[in-house]
Amino acid sequence: MSHKLKEGKLRNAYLTDEEIWRIFSSFLSSKSVKSSTYKYVLMKSMIENLYEVNENLELSYDQLAYTFAKVYWNMVVVHGIEKHNPGSRNAAAATWVVIEERETYSIPNDYSFDKIASSVQLRMIKKIKQAMKVNVFGALFGDTRGSFYEFSHRTEYFRFDPNVYSFMLNYQLLLTQLTNFHMAKKIEELNGRSVDHVIMKVEDITKRGNLKPFERVLLHYFEQRCFYCEKDLSRGKRQIHVDHFVPWSFVQSDQIWNLVLACSKCNTSKRDKLANGLFLDKIKERNDELITLKEADITPLLESYQEEKIQKMYVYSQKNGYDQLWAP
Ligand SMILES: [Zn+2]
Repeated sequence: MSHKLKEGKLRNAYLTDEEIWRIFSSFLSSKSVKSSTYKYVLMKSMIENLYEVNENLELSYDQLAYTFAKVYWNMVVVHGIEKHNPGSRNAAAATWVVIEERETYSIPNDYSFDKIASSVQLRMIKKIKQAMKVNVFGALFGDTRGSFYEFSHRTEYFRFDPNVYSFMLNYQLLLTQLTNFHMAKKIEELNGRSVDHVIMKVEDITKRGNLKPFERVLLHYFEQRCFYCEKDLSRGKRQIHVDHFVPWSFVQSDQIWNLVLACSKCNTSKRDKLANGLFLDKIKERNDELITLKEADITPLLESYQEEKIQKMYVYSQKNGYDQLWAP
């Protein structure tokens, strides 16, 4: 059984987009056995970490386990979806991990993952990583016929096939939507009933609850002006919005190097659009300034940042359909 594999090597066959689509479709379809939601969640974790790979297109198990833990926590605890009969063999081990941790620490149900104390987050991530080793990496490896990624439990590294990696960047938005849709269907099937607003809940589970800490950092180190129109933001706290420079609906994660302060007028009119290229140069300069500060509260937030990253995100969001450029 492929889910028991401790290591899987890439076939390294050259795949065309058409072949990758075919494998992806069979992974989504009911032909591939999915007794739980974990394969979709691994796919979501791969998508969320597309811009976090190193030069060899590798991710650590810890990076993937962080997203995996966050998704399960927000799905099972915050939204109360994916329920299982106790003792059911079909229950995802990750579901039990988050339920146990919530009970051990009496964490309120409405606490999103990022609000949990980091020591508890780390414990949970460690346990989830173990669960992923047993059930997850090998199973999806088998489903994708060894052509999407390779993995090793010994080194705890995961590596994308180069063609599959660029395929995922080119079709990121579509892949996210397809994965969310099929995962929502699976959740309803597991729950044995229709779940209110299930697709919206699934779309929401990678979302961080609170951008306030980023707002505080940006307000502290920079002039209090709208990034786009330069309006003074120092008067009236309600005027300040934290904007995802490359829209959240595309990146699905919150990194300080993609966040700017904006006035409500700009934030409302920009919405889900991409700002024009002048602002791309401006945010690169802003990020350089952030790095130069060398402050203890900022440096860890920029650990994985490189200028090419925001450039790449900007280019791929255009390729994914964010081609209407906005200016204030
Ligand atoms: Zn503005």
